[in-house]
Amino acid sequence: MKVVLENLTKRFPSRNKKGEDVIAVNDFNFEIPDGQLIGLLGPSGCGKSTTLNLISGLEEPTSGKVWFGDEDVTRLPPEARGVGLVFQNYALYPHLTVEENIIFPLQNLKGDRKMTKEEMHRKALETAKLVQIDGLMERKPKELSGGQQQRVAIARALVKIPRVLLLDEPLSNLDARLRLQTREELRRIQRETGVTTIFVTHDQEEAMSISDLIIVMKDGKVHQIGKPQEVYDEPVNLFVAQFLGTPQINVFEGEIRNGKVRIGEEDVLDAEGREDRKVWVGIRPEGFIPDEQGPLTCRMDRVEVMGRDVSVVSTHEKMTGKCIRSIVSSENRFAPDQETVRFRLKPHKVFLFDRESEERV
Ligand code: ATP
Repeated sequence: MKVVLENLTKRFPSRNKKGEDVIAVNDFNFEIPDGQLIGLLGPSGCGKSTTLNLISGLEEPTSGKVWFGDEDVTRLPPEARGVGLVFQNYALYPHLTVEENIIFPLQNLKGDRKMTKEEMHRKALETAKLVQIDGLMERKPKELSGGQQQRVAIARALVKIPRVLLLDEPLSNLDARLRLQTREELRRIQRETGVTTIFVTHDQEEAMSISDLIIVMKDGKVHQIGKPQEVYDEPVNLFVAQFLGTPQINVFEGEIRNGKVRIGEEDVLDAEGREDRKVWVGIRPEGFIPDEQGPLTCRMDRVEVMGRDVSVVSTHEKMTGKCIRSIVSSENRFAPDQETVRFRLKPHKVFLFDRESEERV
């Protein structure tokens, strides 16, 4: 099912007389293609959950529309939209078994969708198999691990075959290992069912690893939409560049002068044909090549071994943030008492942003 968000805006009135309204979602326009897994990503308070709630019908927009296919669902209540919902706290019924929890949404189906007990059991088992909890059907939620509980919640959301599956931080309560495993599972389940799925996360790595498309939001506004790798490789502004990637992109105060990118007193890269201006220079950690003749000179702080690669931690008077992190091959050799380290830069790993607007130039 294709989902279209048309000029979608949600304004919450301010709590006190003087304060301004909060625009949680500001003129969101996008057509979510059928059958894709979409990661809705952004820092806390950027409007991710509100966007999801507008799609599910838990919130009504101040203006704008939500379409499922050709149907305008903007004024429909959640239960009439045919959405499956999964939240961070699994919200299972504690007194019901796994099977009863999964069956629950099937019990109040009306008309020709009404099911017999047998059909409900069959459907529940089928869905439990899909999320691989069919061996746990008789257990109560408290007898399950967090990851298993979340699978039950996903099964419950899927059992009615929703038109759209919506997940709000579904992996946040899981420990690191389970989180990794469950996100792979989520991807598999989504592929197998082909249900258009939108999931909210503040974890960029999570969103990047499993999404077909990511939507990066800040302050209620969509900043960029694209395939994860494309957004990483071609960020439209400084915020998006900084939000994606670990370690974070390194940002220097710099300028374009006489066809060169200049940081401090050093010309670090060609910028032929570009107008002179002040810029932020963003360099991805993998964009540095240690080179004794390299144009960028940093003060060496330490080298952290990471196995195949090493992380060189250095500083520079024009850097923003606490330090510069560059990820380089462990085949590079560094002297223990080395005071400076020089780098060449990979041009496609360097981005320039306007100093005022922070837009990519
Ligand atoms: P988080 O990752 O912390 O859950 P989020 O990106 O999901 O954040 P939202 O919960 O959508 O953000 O909130 C967006 C903005 O709208 C925030 O500034 C929030 O304080 C505000 N907001 C959300 N719900 C309400 C409400 N019911 N009344 C007033 N303001 C609200």
